Amino acid sequence: MNSNGYEARCQKRLEEWHAPISDWYCIDVIDIEEEASDTDLFTCELCGCSRVRFVHVMEHDDYFEDVRVGCICAGIMEGDVLAAKERERLMKNRAKRKRNFPKRKWKETPYGTYILMHKGSWIKMVHSKFNDQHYGVSYNGKIVWKYQGRPITSFLAAVYAAFDLVDPVERIMRP
Ligand SMILES: [Zn+2]
Repeated sequence: MNSNGYEARCQKRLEEWHAPISDWYCIDVIDIEEEASDTDLFTCELCGCSRVRFVHVMEHDDYFEDVRVGCICAGIMEGDVLAAKERERLMKNRAKRKRNFPKRKWKETPYGTYILMHKGSWIKMVHSKFNDQHYGVSYNGKIVWKYQGRPITSFLAAVYAAFDLVDPVERIMRP
């Protein structure tokens, strides 16, 4: 595919939307395989490619809504394809770390909590005082009671919540 033609098509699309064609910035990247239970990938809102796994959420100060796109379209919108590719690479590595995280062995304490050492600090997993079925996870003074917007009701969900706490996507967005 001719890359200049591709870029021109993306910019034409933005013009059709009366949207700015440059100076967008990325506010979040979402791993579709992590969020969805089925295997449907995402369709880039700009070029229509239906095979997007990592969704770059693009924002512009002069536009009323964000635009969700794949890596290359994100690069065109922000005027820096290398930066978008680097974000994509870091997200892939993070996804690998997340996949491996449940292999780590938690220690059960006499108080019924589970702990795991991570980079010199303990991650703690506790049961809610109010609902024994709900887990909370704390690390370095932060505590979360939800994973992907829902209460944490299984050990595995608590493990993934712990991962998001110690290895957040925000670190990729704002290193
Ligand atoms: Zn695209």
